[in-house]
Amino acid sequence: MNTRPHAQNTQNSRTDTQNSRTPEPPQAGSTRAPEPPAATHIPAPHTAGPAGTAASPGPGPLGLDRATGSPGPGPLDLDRATGSPGADLVRVPELLEATRAYAVRILGGLDDRPVAQAPVRPRPVPLPESGTGLAGAMEAFARRWEPGFSGSAGPRYLGFVTGGATPAALAGDWLTSVLDQNPTSALDSRAPDLEREAVAWLRELFGLPAEHEGAFVSGATMSNLAGLAIAREWVGESRGVSVAEEGVAALGPVPVLSGSPHSSIGKALSVLGLGRSAIRYVDVLPGREAVDVDKLAGELDRLDGAPAIVVANAGTVNTVDFDDLRAVAALRERYPFWLHVDAAFGAFAALSPGHAHLVAGLAGADSVCVDLHKWLNVPYDSAVQFTRRRDLQARVFQNAAAYLGPLGPDPDFVHLTPENSRRLRALPAWFTLAAYGREGHAEVVRRDIALAAELGERIGAMPAYRLLAPVRLNVVCFTLAGSPSPERVGEVVRAVTDSGEAFLTPTVYAGVPALRAAFSNWRTTEADVDRVAKALRAAAPRS
Ligand SMILES: *Cc1c(COP(=O)(O)O)cnc(C)c1O
Repeated sequence: MNTRPHAQNTQNSRTDTQNSRTPEPPQAGSTRAPEPPAATHIPAPHTAGPAGTAASPGPGPLGLDRATGSPGPGPLDLDRATGSPGADLVRVPELLEATRAYAVRILGGLDDRPVAQAPVRPRPVPLPESGTGLAGAMEAFARRWEPGFSGSAGPRYLGFVTGGATPAALAGDWLTSVLDQNPTSALDSRAPDLEREAVAWLRELFGLPAEHEGAFVSGATMSNLAGLAIAREWVGESRGVSVAEEGVAALGPVPVLSGSPHSSIGKALSVLGLGRSAIRYVDVLPGREAVDVDKLAGELDRLDGAPAIVVANAGTVNTVDFDDLRAVAALRERYPFWLHVDAAFGAFAALSPGHAHLVAGLAGADSVCVDLHKWLNVPYDSAVQFTRRRDLQARVFQNAAAYLGPLGPDPDFVHLTPENSRRLRALPAWFTLAAYGREGHAEVVRRDIALAAELGERIGAMPAYRLLAPVRLNVVCFTLAGSPSPERVGEVVRAVTDSGEAFLTPTVYAGVPALRAAFSNWRTTEADVDRVAKALRAAAPRS
């Protein structure tokens, strides 16, 4: 065992880079730059429209005038002053049509807008006392904000592990807002059953058995948190304590064993009252991020029969390494532990025949975390949480006093996740699965894997760089051939970002400052790998 702290905290590097490049915001009371004149027409977002034609200059991104005239009292007798929802209501078809056209222009320009933007904080604007209506708001957004947004939905944003949004997922997301369901309970709508169907489809997609039931949460961090909360309740059950009723103090310390846990595991343990220091870092295999199963057995043996939590990792963020899930699960014949698997994006290996063996054994987990806003390519935010102990899950998250009795075999979602009211997050996932099926999504996964392998080969052939690990799935982890310092790596990251061609994130792997290129967007093609490789070559240090 050792004490590698926060082995994979790439999120922190994001914060660091952002901070180091964020110019100071204007001081209060300092002379303000004059506000640019209100645009009478808004330039199209960065580039030509989908057909390659520059969007025609119109009165604004919506192609609408802000003045609405005075429509007079309508059937709803709403206030029709410009800047009231009632005034917009009478123009909803026209306004949404214009929003659609604006969205299409943005999507058409994704390939060409700068992939990432050095953040420049705009001058703060006070809360409008009276608004400008949707058309005015859109104009302000298009002028003040949208040009500074990243191209993270596009094909060469290879930072972190970032998906885009398939056309069907995007449409599903729009309709989520249009229908505005709250799938908390089944009193009023069939929406919760759509969530159940989407969960069942995902379970099939990843080859999990029917005992694994699931719920939508906002991301892998929340999925890990929910899984570990159920694990905590299981440890309580083993020790004759109900943590949900008596609190974590009644439980005492709980050992959490893992080889290369994602930083979100520490965050979850902090929130759950188990504490970040509950993590016991088990040795990994030489030159790997995968846990040494013999060492794990040794650690479990030393617990002398005390129940524990094991977090197995299926796809680490640096080198996409996989614990041997079957071997880890087999240890349960000898030792009592809850097996949680963080398969945030690694679960998608199941869709590639050449890589499915990496997640063999996933079905044996007690709880599983899978992110959906990564490789399923649904918009933020979305993840699924699976467990085979829904009874314990409901004990933790039930939104009713325990004395009301058991919730039955199929509790409402309000009793299954940290949230109460929530959006119908399942709809974009349902749409993309209905539209493209297993094969459509498998094609995206296989293509991303092939493109990562290709970029790995190209980088391996460049004298300025060297690979730090084989490209096992969809991430290329590499560094500078000569003396990689955090500064020199940072310069490469910045040069690539400034080129507008690609976005990669820095990391530290095995003590070496490094870069990562992660492929999980459905739009990425070979032509993109070409552009990324060119940008990297141009960004290589001269010396
Ligand atoms: C991305 C990721 C997380 C955290 O996911 P969020 O969706 O950002 O909360 C956790 N574990 C792994 C392995 C990941 O790749």
